[in-house]
Amino acid sequence: MQELRFDGRVVVVTGAGAGLGRTYALLFASRGANVVVNDLGSSRHGDGSSRNSADTVVQEIRENGGKAVANYDSVLDGAKIINTAIDAFGRIDVVVNNAGILRDVSFAKMTDAQWDIIHNVHVKGAMKTTQAAWPYFLKQKYGRVIFTSSNSGLYGNFGQSNYSSAKMGLVGLANTLAIEGARKNIYTNVIVPTAGSRLTEDIIPPDFFEQLKPELIAPVVFWLCHEICTENGSIIEAALGWAGKCHIIRSSGCTLRQNFSEDVTPENVQENWSKVTDMTSAKRLNSIQEATGELLNVLENIKSGD
Ligand code: NAD
Repeated sequence: MQELRFDGRVVVVTGAGAGLGRTYALLFASRGANVVVNDLGSSRHGDGSSRNSADTVVQEIRENGGKAVANYDSVLDGAKIINTAIDAFGRIDVVVNNAGILRDVSFAKMTDAQWDIIHNVHVKGAMKTTQAAWPYFLKQKYGRVIFTSSNSGLYGNFGQSNYSSAKMGLVGLANTLAIEGARKNIYTNVIVPTAGSRLTEDIIPPDFFEQLKPELIAPVVFWLCHEICTENGSIIEAALGWAGKCHIIRSSGCTLRQNFSEDVTPENVQENWSKVTDMTSAKRLNSIQEATGELLNVLENIKSGD
């Protein structure tokens, strides 16, 4: 199989000074990409800033013969990050939104500040960075976007209501950008990684942590960003050298009234609840049009009962 290359392409990786982002930046650069290594250099809780982490990764890439420049802005200043790509390399092809922090606290104790900083860094930061690249993508009819979600968002996790809601917010953002970009060859996907990093070092048992190498996830992100990859609007989970696709599925449900003259009562809902929630013939709906189409079928069924 021919080696997949990124020669001439320009890739921004946010939060690339450490953990997952660092391995993405190194892989893209090793395959010919010009890489903007963005990192604010903050703590895992988002405090402080430092140029060290971005500089170290840029140096590592250059020592390996690759091309990279550092950017130290917060993802909230996404336009500055994209400007760094344009100033240094003249174009932008790929945005990997990876920067992230944690402020874990139970919901009862959550302050506005703890909520806002998580939503700002993860959702608004990813939005600002991607939106700054979007006009270039539209013009050149090519672009690839990655958002980074989490199993905490897909399934929930105690103490992470701020983080899990932000991570699911990114799934919603990806769903819509996948639709808005599709005709212009701009594909957006979501990665759900599990990796040993400073975010997980005190959560994952050491033996497992050791095996969860970020390097095993980077090739999946790399493939999703390649121009010959046509995946769009997907949620891809990856860890340990395994990857799989996630879907939201819906039960076939139950019509709670047989004709227009019948009311739906709470007791009627109670009586039919096992049918409403029966997942045996659950399926994925592929679009909002398909969901609306299913509702029109329900309407026809009720009409025919009159
Ligand atoms: P990490 O802490 O090693 O790396 C995150 C990097 O983002 C850090 O270098 C940090 O300085 C940078 N950063 C933080 N805020 C920033 C900002 N405002 N602007 C620019 N850079 C900023 O963490 P990681 O585990 O590599 O996480 C990477 C991403 O993957 C995050 O979005 C995280 O939520 C997500 N994630 C990680 C795991 C996991 O198992 N490690 C699981 C699910 C999701």
